[in-house]
Amino acid sequence: MMETEAPAKRDIRKLKLDELKEFFVSQGEKPFRAQQVYEWLWKKSAKDFEQMTNLSVATRELLKNHFTINHIHVDTMQRSEDGTIKNAVRLHDGLVVESVLIPTEKRITACVSSQVGCSLGCAFCATARLKRMRNLNPDEIYDQVVAIQQQCELFFGRPLTNIVFMGMGEPLLNYSNVIAAIEKITSPQGLNMAAKRITVSTVGIAKMIRKMADDEVKFNLAVSLHSAINKTRSSMMPINDTNPLEELAEALKYWYTKRKKKVTFEYVVWKDINDSKEDALALLKFCKNVPCKVNLIEYNPIDEGRFQQASDEALQMYMDLLESNGITTRIRKSRGKDIDAACGQLANKS
Ligand code: SAH
Repeated sequence: MMETEAPAKRDIRKLKLDELKEFFVSQGEKPFRAQQVYEWLWKKSAKDFEQMTNLSVATRELLKNHFTINHIHVDTMQRSEDGTIKNAVRLHDGLVVESVLIPTEKRITACVSSQVGCSLGCAFCATARLKRMRNLNPDEIYDQVVAIQQQCELFFGRPLTNIVFMGMGEPLLNYSNVIAAIEKITSPQGLNMAAKRITVSTVGIAKMIRKMADDEVKFNLAVSLHSAINKTRSSMMPINDTNPLEELAEALKYWYTKRKKKVTFEYVVWKDINDSKEDALALLKFCKNVPCKVNLIEYNPIDEGRFQQASDEALQMYMDLLESNGITTRIRKSRGKDIDAACGQLANKS
């Protein structure tokens, strides 16, 4: 006798509220059940249908027979001496990404991943050494935030205040899922966080920056610039070959006219790569053309190779030049270096 295979169960969090309503109606149930289930799935982050205690046993069975809840699992958690926490997050198919909790006096920031691995190949970034495996789904991004929110309460007794998309992957190459995750994060039916507390960081894909502007997204934009000279930028960031600085600048000006929000440039100063006066002057010129702020970020070594942090004098030279010309500039110290949790160090080492 041939065995009949049970139909593959669908991931219930891929369904929109309307689709869930349709499902209930098709099963002869009341559509308002969908609302209840939705609340369990998102607002209450239920990991199991059994938790949905305001549903009858029969309804829970019905859901179990048709769907799965593909929840992430925090495999390991490492704590840095500075309080930073790095999570290795296992996805339902066994792949692993990393997320980071960064506490400061006033804020707690969650740094989340948007892809498994990365396809961009930035020469200074550890994640670039992992092949890009796949995009994260909206629920997988959302779950990273929920897990960190729980850690905030548990370890710090304070709420999560900010989210940055600066973990593994390029958020604008997984645009629709990132947008769907942010919609849930900001919705009263989800985490109800303000969009202005969320920052999406991109390598600088001009077309997608224009799309974000057209979509009137409410979150903040950061661009990993690292050089305002095409030749130098292309030598470490392959994306610059197809998205040169002139196109990036035009897209960012468009963003500003539409959104009226300054972009933040992330910029590492490296010894003998971009630490000369000429490099700083090029950045100043770029910044005068595009309304922006600048974060000079500390380099987190990933090996003994080509990249080394520039001297304090070089940083100060950048700082003085930019500030004296009215460009708001901050020097950002690294966090979580001892556990490889800092920018560019996420590489699933454990
Ligand atoms: N793909 C996105 C987000 C991930 S990278 C982007 O490119 O912006 C997050 C930030 O860390 C980027 O600004 C990136 O340039 C920076 N970064 C990467 N490697 C780094 C390293 N080794 N030290 C310091 N910053 C690094």
